[in-house]
Amino acid sequence: MSEPRKVVLLGATGSIGTNALRILRAHPDKLQLVGASAHSNANDLLQIAEEFALKWICLTDEDAREQAAGKVPEGTELLSGSAGLEELAILEEADVVLVAVVGAAGLSPTLAALGAGKDVALANKEALVAGGQFVMEAARASGARILPTDSEHNAVFQCLGGGSTEQVEKIILTASGGPFLDWSAERMAKVTPEEALQHPNWSMGPKITVDSATMANKGLEVIEARWLFDLPPERIEVAVHPQSVAHSFVQFVDGSLVAQLSPPSMTFAIQHALLFPDRAPGVDDTVDFTQPFSLDFQPADLERFPCLRLAREALTAGGLGPAVFNAANEVAVEAFLENRIGFSSISRTIERSLETMELREPNDLNDIFAADAEARRVATAVAHSQKPS
Ligand code: NDP
Ligand code: MG
Repeated sequence: MSEPRKVVLLGATGSIGTNALRILRAHPDKLQLVGASAHSNANDLLQIAEEFALKWICLTDEDAREQAAGKVPEGTELLSGSAGLEELAILEEADVVLVAVVGAAGLSPTLAALGAGKDVALANKEALVAGGQFVMEAARASGARILPTDSEHNAVFQCLGGGSTEQVEKIILTASGGPFLDWSAERMAKVTPEEALQHPNWSMGPKITVDSATMANKGLEVIEARWLFDLPPERIEVAVHPQSVAHSFVQFVDGSLVAQLSPPSMTFAIQHALLFPDRAPGVDDTVDFTQPFSLDFQPADLERFPCLRLAREALTAGGLGPAVFNAANEVAVEAFLENRIGFSSISRTIERSLETMELREPNDLNDIFAADAEARRVATAVAHSQKPS
């Protein structure tokens, strides 16, 4: 029997991280955790270090690291900051790095891992949205694989059988539509963070849950798909599918549609990415055909969900557009969650930021990081000028 694949898990204490740990526990013969990170949740990370006898952990938040310093289990080394995250991403013994941190903070460790020739199971979509061109180049240069772990992209990856998109007409990303699928624009304008954090199907971290409610998440995913599958935006469609069972479709040139289906749990995608091309029994219940159920589909409404329209516009504008969209969205979501702006101001903040910034072609990664920082400043000022709901 072959050695277990050695896994580094960045963002181990989050929603994806917690699901990944369930998979790691279920398949010790195939997967071995060798390093893990959290931002400030030291208690959970120390427990993970203990349970998996980790040699390396990292807390990116400096205060949290200081507080945890005296409590680290014997044999474990505690790293810190974004430099620590990058060190974990290039660990000599690692075979695959699961990037499950939230936001553009995922970009640097993703690039570091790919640069070191490590396969990357990429759950973090913001890395590809902000710096897709450079992430794909890093993978090409080292020959490392990017294993799509976002459920829709993992579905497309599965539909392609790991093969190319040569005979693909288009892909159709499914979207749950979030908790406000049937709400009027007027009603949506008054949405509270508590309401936006109640997703009908998925249990996820707060940022992506709000992104699902605005459908910015699907916009980010269209951009993510553009890079992962090298398809032009007009060949990446979105269909609303409230049950979240069909995780995306590939339509081939002959008109045949192939989909990947599983219940709405991220473990199917995470496990597929970590074990690829191998498979093993899953950790969650499968679709139950002994009971009647229906799957519905409808087009997305770009009027009521302007974030999806704006993401497409940012992608079409090209250059720094997607990086600006992403940074402005991160700022706006945080402001909304802190009750500083209303729900409709999320799209307004993104739109004004895109209008304000110059969306030229980036020459290198520094241009991406600079645009990200500048877009955060612009979006913070725009958000500041908006009223709470
Ligand atoms: P969570 O908020 O649940 O978890 C985020 C993780 O990243 C935590 O471990 C957190 O540590 C850590 N973290 C937070 N901020 C930083 C930072 N600035 N630098 C480094 N690490 C940080 O997020 P999710 O698990 O929901 O999402 C993670 C990523 O996966 C996102 O990019 C999301 O879009 C994507 N994704 C998530 C899905 C889901 O079902 N949740 C589905 C598809 C994609 P701490 O706990 O200490 O704060
Ligand atoms: Mg997704």
